[in-house]
Amino acid sequence: MIRALACVVLALQAVTPPPKFDSARAWEHLRQLVAIGPRPSGSPAIEQTRKYIREQLAAAGLTATEQAWDEQTPIDRIRMVNLIATIPGARKERIVFAGHYDTKLYRQFRFVGASDGGSSAAFLLELARVLKGRKNPLTIELLFLDGEEARLPDWHGTDNTYGSRHYVDLAKRDASLTTLKALVLIDMIGDRDLNMRRDTNSTPWLTELIWREAARQGRDDDFLAGSTKIEDDHLPFLAAGVPAVDIIDLDYEAWHTAEDTLDAVSARSLQVVGDVVLGAPPKIEARLTKN
Ligand SMILES: [Zn+2]
Repeated sequence: MIRALACVVLALQAVTPPPKFDSARAWEHLRQLVAIGPRPSGSPAIEQTRKYIREQLAAAGLTATEQAWDEQTPIDRIRMVNLIATIPGARKERIVFAGHYDTKLYRQFRFVGASDGGSSAAFLLELARVLKGRKNPLTIELLFLDGEEARLPDWHGTDNTYGSRHYVDLAKRDASLTTLKALVLIDMIGDRDLNMRRDTNSTPWLTELIWREAARQGRDDDFLAGSTKIEDDHLPFLAAGVPAVDIIDLDYEAWHTAEDTLDAVSARSLQVVGDVVLGAPPKIEARLTKN
């Protein structure tokens, strides 16, 4: 009887599909983040954003750990915080899914960053829920990065990617970088008119894997054949020898303007990217667990 029951349980596990990416949930996160208003690093609003992220991760059964430090920027000294949630897998080697949750500081207009800062954080929250419900051969880490945006108006020198540089520095020091096998960076994926292009700074095999998955899903209209060169939070990882891909749509009319609001983004875009990104882990795992 027990054996029969065990068989039933196993059969049920086999037929119960893992959860799918639900853009309605991701959209609700995006709406909540935008409702907080501008969320630049060091502001009370970004603290409120962290509270929301922590609560939503907790609702998915995950605990966020904080990586906090004081950062000297060209204009001020501010507290920055990366948030990390880990889903243990069968092996300790890990795939990191990252994105930034800060929005660029603008004093002359109200910048709520629906796609730029909002979409990546909202996306990672829904990704966390889905991956938590999956049997993961490798450990999965969700990394919410602070300080991607430059504090000064223009992107220059080291006045940007504060969170990713800090994370990689610490990971080198505590040797946790050795178990970091791949980084999938998500940035600005909300654009209603999705135009993804391959980033030539990214690791070719990882980029190829994502674009092939997109093609398999019939998303050639969203994941285009062209390429571009992007400076983003993946660069410190690449410099440290971690394979990394940046999934970003910088072909966005509302980029760094007051128009980067809910009107410029869509749940459909979140769904398209969600489906494609979730097609990647099995392929990344197959490659990484080969030896
Ligand atoms: Zn930006």
